[in-house]
Amino acid sequence: MTIKPNSVVALTYELHTTENGEKVFVEKATEENPLVFLYGVGMMLPKFEEYLNGLAAGATYGFELSAADGYGEKDPSAVTELPLDMFGDMEKPAVGAILPLQDNQGHQFRAVVTAISETVVTVDLNHPMAGKDLHFTGTIISVREATADELAHGHAHGIDGQAGH
Ligand SMILES: [Zn+2]
Repeated sequence: MTIKPNSVVALTYELHTTENGEKVFVEKATEENPLVFLYGVGMMLPKFEEYLNGLAAGATYGFELSAADGYGEKDPSAVTELPLDMFGDMEKPAVGAILPLQDNQGHQFRAVVTAISETVVTVDLNHPMAGKDLHFTGTIISVREATADELAHGHAHGIDGQAGH
């Protein structure tokens, strides 16, 4: 069968971005540890799913998503300053550190520390992949119908649908 909504897809991928004209490796999923997901329910980037539509097991793919089709352009207003006092007795964060934060509604998100002064910590709340073009290559390992449980839960239960949780 081919990839269509409510398929469970297992695939390998390699993700690169382009930074200053250089291809930079970001992450990958291998045949031994593939990415398995329920297709067509909004788990993945919409354009990523669009490019995979209709592929069958064994197919290879390669495509590029612009930043806009990926994690969006960087939002300059998403860079903010936190008072250093906020960290109390905790160890001061370092530049490049990723802080797990929580907003008033209890949503968790990650902020990357971009600068530290005597009084403030500057953090970037943009998604780490914002503003970057994404190059994906990989192979489709398997495509199957989702089970009733998977459809009810809205996610895949492993490559064979048997993974409990
Ligand atoms: Zn489940």
